[in-house]
Amino acid sequence: MSGSVTVVGLGPGDEALITPEVSAALAQATDIIGYIPYVARIAPRPGLRLHPSDNRVEIDRSEHALRLAQEGACVVVVSSGDPGVFAMAAAVLEAVEHGDPGWRDLDIRVLPGITAMLAAAAACGAPLGHDFCAINLSDNMKPWALIEKRLRLAAEADFAMAFYNPRSKSRPEGFGKALATLQAACGDDRPMIFARNVSRPDQSIRIVPLSAATAEMADMRTVVLLGSSQTRIIPRDGAPLVYTPRSVAG
Ligand code: SAH
Repeated sequence: MSGSVTVVGLGPGDEALITPEVSAALAQATDIIGYIPYVARIAPRPGLRLHPSDNRVEIDRSEHALRLAQEGACVVVVSSGDPGVFAMAAAVLEAVEHGDPGWRDLDIRVLPGITAMLAAAAACGAPLGHDFCAINLSDNMKPWALIEKRLRLAAEADFAMAFYNPRSKSRPEGFGKALATLQAACGDDRPMIFARNVSRPDQSIRIVPLSAATAEMADMRTVVLLGSSQTRIIPRDGAPLVYTPRSVAG
């Protein structure tokens, strides 16, 4: 009997932001695989096996999922946000490409979720309303020089930007260096948004001019957005609204 591997995104935190399609897949699962805090979000029930694992074992985790499916299990691999954004979907497909040829015959599906940058953007208005890019600031998977190059070129192309994994205890220096690169490359004081624990009860949204941004404003629970040169702030009583207009004059 051949089983299935469904890679799902649990959204940024709020249960209401889990899609009905993902809820249905979770309800049918026999096995849940993922990073410990994400598996902790799944309610236990009889007949459901939970396999939490530590970070940085993405390929082992993927191979585990594929082997269980080969034995007939209905496996759901969980990520936060969207599974295709700096998460498990690409890891599972990498395991399929390089692993047992029989894995290609399994029922493998990826179900989208609401990624952190979209939830953060919505929480402060529409800062990603025009062209934008997303950059993972962790240099665990790529050299720092490549990150620097992408920051410089994204600034030159005048993209709004979203930064994932901005700063961790094991990488305390990187975000400060990224900020210095952006402050030098952007040449203006566009808004930077520090969105922490978006959609969770302790959500915080902090909007500062790029020149006033400091490394301590971000941690691993923060997604950072940077406007383009066109991004506007609408002051009002209470939280301001930030948006990037739909069009740029030619
Ligand atoms: N697949 C996830 C991203 C995983 S990388 C997604 O699509 O959202 C982990 C990074 O995502 C964190 O370091 C942080 O930058 C961001 N992130 C995830 N959930 C978040 C949340 N609720 N609030 C703010 N940032 C979040």
